[in-house]
Formats: sequence, structure tokens, C-alpha cells
Amino acid sequence: MIDTPIAALGAPRTDCPACGGGALKELLHLPAIPVQSCILLDSAADGAGFPRHQMRLTFCEECGFIFNAAFDERLIDYASVTEETQHFSGTFNAFARKLVQEIVATWPLEGRKVLEIGCGKGDFLREVCLAVRCEALGIDPGFIEERLETPHDGSLRFQREYFDPATVKMRPDLVICRHTLEHIGEVRDFVDDILPLVSDRPDSGVFFETPDVGRVLREGAFWDIYFEHCSYFTPSTHAGLFWSAGYDVTALRLDYGEQYIIQHARAGRGAPLRPFAAEESLETLAALATAFPARVAEVMGHWHDFVTSRHRDGRRLAIWGGGSKCVSFLTSLGLADEIAQVIDINPYKQNRFLPGTGIQVMAPQALAATPPDTVIVMNPVYLDEIARSLADIGLSPEIVAV
Ligand SMILES: [Zn+2]
Repeated sequence: MIDTPIAALGAPRTDCPACGGGALKELLHLPAIPVQSCILLDSAADGAGFPRHQMRLTFCEECGFIFNAAFDERLIDYASVTEETQHFSGTFNAFARKLVQEIVATWPLEGRKVLEIGCGKGDFLREVCLAVRCEALGIDPGFIEERLETPHDGSLRFQREYFDPATVKMRPDLVICRHTLEHIGEVRDFVDDILPLVSDRPDSGVFFETPDVGRVLREGAFWDIYFEHCSYFTPSTHAGLFWSAGYDVTALRLDYGEQYIIQHARAGRGAPLRPFAAEESLETLAALATAFPARVAEVMGHWHDFVTSRHRDGRRLAIWGGGSKCVSFLTSLGLADEIAQVIDINPYKQNRFLPGTGIQVMAPQALAATPPDTVIVMNPVYLDEIARSLADIGLSPEIVAV
């Protein structure tokens, strides 16, 4: 547990972590949200008493980057037990396998070296090693040895620590970084640190997969805003960060229901800046940012009314998805008692307690004994999968996705 006194933490930053600019505009202030939302606790009391801090979602008018100006990495301990893996979902597994095929088709990796920064539990890197004979190193402070069946030829290794270029003894031909950049406060320093690892050989580069903030802006999707995510990208601000740091971006698109930015890049060779179809203009971004405060207030009002009116009418509500979106959804709206159950298919989440509300996460089968009237799905990508799971246990509640 982090014991840094909140009062000792500094004032919100006044410069952009991506471009250094100072023309900043605050988009959303959440006064007290849990400082970790992927963590799971051992008791309802631990969940309800989990440390909180403010979020100041801020837009840089110079480069379009969005970040939490009140972020302080000292509040987060990724080495504590976190549960970020999505590898229990069939939909996500199919997507990950497709990406592995794309990576081995794009980068010549046979007999070469792959580094994954922020490898989580190592599932993705293991898939890469099964697809192509290579030497692989995964780095993540939350890696858990016992959770992975590694190939036995020693080709796959892990370092259970934060990324520090000084401790990377490998010269990787490809650096993979999935769902990690959004957790980095000093984003420019981070991509600067990676560049020398891949800058002196042809056919070497980086693959990044990062959540897109476009939907959050357009739809006021406040459940995708939480403390660990201190950095929010669109395709153009993502690519722009790499271009400005001396990379050439070679492929850029949105994928996974337009939720994730997929980017391939390599050390710059002076190629002209080429806009990709997925990129949007700074003017478009600025307009979305300007409209966001009213939009998010409207969406938060909608969901607060949706839940409280059904609860008042005596209907049982369940949330499907016990991850960070659920934690953010409930704590941003100040809801807890209105939700009868939170369900997750990940056995490592089940029977443990959410930060903020202290609600216990249950397996889907728990719904059979106490059928819900309404199920709120925290990710529309899983709607079909979840509807089938509910039908399998004989339930047909109202199902709505955020
Ligand atoms: Zn900026």
C-alpha cells in the first residue's frame, strides 16, 4: 500500500508532457477517484477505504495531447496485485492472435530478439514466441511467474520490474508496447528512452497499441477515464509524439471496434511526415475538447438516472465487467448500493472486492440464484459474448452496454 500523504503531493503541472507547451485547458475535474482501479482487495472494507486522489483531465491546445495534470506516479504501485489481463475473453484472444500474425508478417523476427515493455502476465509475448522462433524478454513489475506456461527452451525470459533502459541487456529488433503508454506520465521521456534500443539497425522498430481517447471525447465515455490512465491519445497525437521524438511512423490505424490505436514505427530516416487516414486535425480535436465538459456532464446524468430510477423501482441491476471501467463508472457517479452484483469471467477477479465501492466480484453463475432485471455491460465489444453467457444460464434480462 502506498503511504504518501496526499497533502504532500505537488500542484497540478502546467506544461504538456508530450510537447512541453503551456497552453492548457482543463476538461474534467474528478475530486476523489481511487488511485488504482485494476487492483482487487481482500475485503469490502479494504475496497471502500482504498486511497483516492483528484483527476484533472487537461487538453494541450498546442499539440492536442490529453493528460491528467494532477497525476502522481508515486500513488500507484503496479507491483501490487493487479489484474489487468483480458486474456480470459474469447473476443480479446482472437484479436491478440490476429495482432501476433500482423507483427510476424511485418517485422522479420526469425532468430532475432523481441522486447515487450509492460508485458503484463506475459500471454502476448508467449504467443509471439509460439508464432516465430525468436529470443524474447518481457518487462513488467506485475509479472507473475506462476501464471504463465513458458516454452522450456529458455527463449522467453521476464524481468519483474519497471522499464529502465539501463537494466535492458538485450538489443531488441522489435519493441512491443501494448496498453502501457497510457500509464506513463512523462510520455516524451519514455519514447526517447526506447529510440536508442532500435535506432542503429535496419528492419528494427516498435509496435505500440494504446487506447484511443476519441470515443471518450465524442461520447463523453467517462468510464474510460481513471487514475492509472494519465495519458490519453488519438491517432494523430500518438503518431505526433513519435514523429517529434525522431521516429518514422510506418502504419497507424484504429482497431478492436475503433477502441485501440495500432502503430508501427522505426527510427527516423528523414521520411516526410505523411498523414494517415486515421489521423484527425488539431482543429477537430480542439472542437471535441471544447464540447467535452457539457457532453460528459450529460452522459454522467443519463447513467446516474438510469441506475437510480431502476433501483428505486425495485429492479436488480448487475454490471458485467469487474475491471477499471466498472470502478470508474461507479466511483465517478458516486454509486454503490444501487448495484446488486458485479460479474466477471476472470477467475482471478472473482470473490475479491473493487476499490472505491468495496463491491464483491462474482462469477456469472452467481446470477442464476439471484437473477438480475438489468445487466450493464462495460464494453460493447463483449455484448454478444455476454448475451450468450446469460442465455446459457437461462437468463434473459435487459442488457445495455455503456
Ligand atoms: Zn502538447
